[in-house]
Amino acid sequence: MFPKGNLTKKYTQPSIKKRIEAFLIDNVGKVVTRQMIVEVSKDPITGKEPENWHQRLSELRTDDGYTILSKRDRAFLSVEDYVLESLNKRANAGKRVMPNQNTWSRILARANQCCEWNEGGTACGLRNGTIDQIGGGTVKLTPDHLQPHSVNPNADATDPNQWQALCGRHQVIKKNFWDSKSGKMNTIAIMQALPHKEKLVALEFLRQYFGTPQGKVGSF
Ligand SMILES: [Zn+2]
Repeated sequence: MFPKGNLTKKYTQPSIKKRIEAFLIDNVGKVVTRQMIVEVSKDPITGKEPENWHQRLSELRTDDGYTILSKRDRAFLSVEDYVLESLNKRANAGKRVMPNQNTWSRILARANQCCEWNEGGTACGLRNGTIDQIGGGTVKLTPDHLQPHSVNPNADATDPNQWQALCGRHQVIKKNFWDSKSGKMNTIAIMQALPHKEKLVALEFLRQYFGTPQGKVGSF
């Protein structure tokens, strides 16, 4: 279990991500709530609440390499509780090359300004600048390198064929569930993201697979 964290000061760092990071560091090893993170995310001057704080939190995990626990990781946490486990960052998280401006324009033209994520033959197709009906917020396409870093460490910033345009939701899915080092699905990350009920189904599957006798589960 973790002690409760506190929001006792004002964070004035210029970016949302930096403010959330500073707040989490002040509360390392403690439970902070969604409400506190939203408060910290607000523009320190205008007080405007950003719609994309959740994505910034995601980036602290995926790009900066922080381990930030939620109910997905620890069943005893409440929904909308978060814990920065320690100040250690995973090495080589999110070292990214980006296509140059001209290449990015060509990628967007090829993509017809729509997200190119394709799942079982169905393209996402969310259009840049429109509203994401599922994820909420305005669709902002960003470049994603098609090949894992380990397979192709020399990403070419000038070759549109090495990149795809993805919406924010699919960037998160790709970053969270795709291990760019091995080029394989990250099964642990997928299990972490499962709702509690489906985790129990997975647990039961593993129990049967390994022939482990049934014990007491689901007591959370
Ligand atoms: Zn998409």
